[in-house]
Amino acid sequence: MQIVTSKDLLRGALSKYRGSHQTVVFVPTMGALHEGHRTLMAKARQIAGEDGVVVASIFVNPIQFDNPSDLSSYPRTMEQDLAICANEGVNYVFTPSSQDMYADQRSIIIDETSLSGKLCGASRPGHFAGVCTVVAKLFNLVQPTDAVFGKKDYQQLAIIRRMVRDLDFPIRIHGAEIVRHEDGLAYSSRNVRLSEENRAAAPVLYQTLLEAKQQFAEGKSLDEIKQIAESKIMDSGATKIDYLEIVNRETMQEPQSKEEPLLMALAVFYGDVRLIDNIEL
Ligand code: AMP
Repeated sequence: MQIVTSKDLLRGALSKYRGSHQTVVFVPTMGALHEGHRTLMAKARQIAGEDGVVVASIFVNPIQFDNPSDLSSYPRTMEQDLAICANEGVNYVFTPSSQDMYADQRSIIIDETSLSGKLCGASRPGHFAGVCTVVAKLFNLVQPTDAVFGKKDYQQLAIIRRMVRDLDFPIRIHGAEIVRHEDGLAYSSRNVRLSEENRAAAPVLYQTLLEAKQQFAEGKSLDEIKQIAESKIMDSGATKIDYLEIVNRETMQEPQSKEEPLLMALAVFYGDVRLIDNIEL
C-alpha cells in the first residue's frame, strides 16, 4: 500500500492507469475509520477484482462543516486508519492537507439545487456544496472508473449520483448498505464522542426506524408514524430532534403518495453529538 500525501504525488502515482483498461475503485472518507468504512473498502476490492486498483482518501474536508466545533472535535486516528486500509487491500491512500487541496483564492463551488433542499441540506447550510466540491475535486484527481458511498448518508449518495449524471463524470457509483453495531446503532466516527449514557440510549434510533417500517406496512399514516417515532426518541433521553422526515428516496422531496419509494431519515442530537440514520420503507 502506498501513502500519497499531495495532489502532485497522487497524479504521478496514478498516471500509469490513465488510458488503461484498469478498473480503479475509489472510496472517499474523512478518516476515524470503522466497520462501515471497512465494508466500503471490501466492496471496492470486490468491484476491482484481484487485478484492479483500490484508492481510498482520508481528508477531513473543512468546507463541508457548518459548525467550527464539529470540525475541531472531529476524531483523527490516522495511524489506525492506515492499518485498516492496508488490511482491506487498499493500494493507495490519499491523505492531502487542506492547504494542498484548496487554493487561497478559491472561488468555485459545486452546488446541487434540488435534492439538497431538505434533511441535512436544510439543517446544515452549505454542507452539500462542500461535499460536492470536494468529491468533484477528488474524482478529477483520482479519475476512478467506480466509486463507493454508504447509504448511511443516503441524501449524500443521491446527490453524488445526480452530480455524476449532470456533470458527466464517467464514473459508476455504488451504494453500500448501512453497517451497524450489534445493538443496531449505525457505525459513525462521531459515536466515540457519545457519553456512556447516550451511547446506551442511541440504539433507540434504529429500533424506531424498524418500528416505523412495520407501521408503514400495516397501513398507518405517515403523520402518525412520524409522531410515534418522535415521542419514542425524545423519551429515550435525546437532547433534540434535528429532523425526522419521510421523503421520496429518489427526489428527497415530500411524497405526494404512499406508493412512491419512501425513505424515513432522521438526525438526532444526544448531548452535542448529532447522529443520522435512515431506513427504506
Ligand atoms: P465519512 O468518513 O463519515 O465521510 O464516510 C465515508 C463513507 O463511509 C461515506 O460514503 C459514508 O456513507 C460511509 N459510511 C459511514 N458510516 C457508515 C456505516 N455505518 N455504514 C455504511 N457506510 C458508512
